[in-house]
Amino acid sequence: MTSVPISALEHHVYCPRQCALIHVEQTFDENVYTLRGARLHERVESGLETVEGGVRVVRSLPLASERWGIHGKADVVELRPEGPYPVEYKAGRRPALPALVQLCAQALCLEEMYRTSVPRGDVYCGGSRRRFTIDFDDDLRRRTAREIDTVRELLERALVPDAPNDRRCPPCSLYSTCMPGVVAQRRRLASLNAFLYRLAAEVSADA
Ligand code: SF4
Repeated sequence: MTSVPISALEHHVYCPRQCALIHVEQTFDENVYTLRGARLHERVESGLETVEGGVRVVRSLPLASERWGIHGKADVVELRPEGPYPVEYKAGRRPALPALVQLCAQALCLEEMYRTSVPRGDVYCGGSRRRFTIDFDDDLRRRTAREIDTVRELLERALVPDAPNDRRCPPCSLYSTCMPGVVAQRRRLASLNAFLYRLAAEVSADA
């Protein structure tokens, strides 16, 4: 079974094509958003282990789950007396679904690694400097499980989905490589060609 990188889940929830360009075609580009994220993570990664308020805080912790077939790294895990508590750092103002799925996948790994349940974790948003607590409820766990299966299939079959060419594209770091406008135009031309082909076939059948 192909082990799925947890980061691929986040990319896939944002845009399946972005996930494929990064994890199938190994394309990566920086833009202002990824650089902001990288700066935030540099701060997280400095000082790998500390004790805060009596709680051991581990940074850049490698994660893996045999059961789910996923692997990755947690920005921060607080080793609280009741169990591990993951904290993911994001540059935006509020956590979005890609980050929730990523955090939930981290929790699945921690549950297997520490043989315990991990009912919630936090997303720290650098843009608002706030921590948001996320419950790993059944819906989020189901969504995460679905993403794991879908991304595994995408990786194993080396699929590169079509470009949605919507509001996700302008802030995407892969915009210039992906060229979503060109892809969408090609798609429109292909469906126009198919329509003209069908029309010509009908006309010649009627003649
Ligand atoms: S530019 Fe748009 S379609 Fe292309 S990878 Fe980014 S979000 Fe997806």
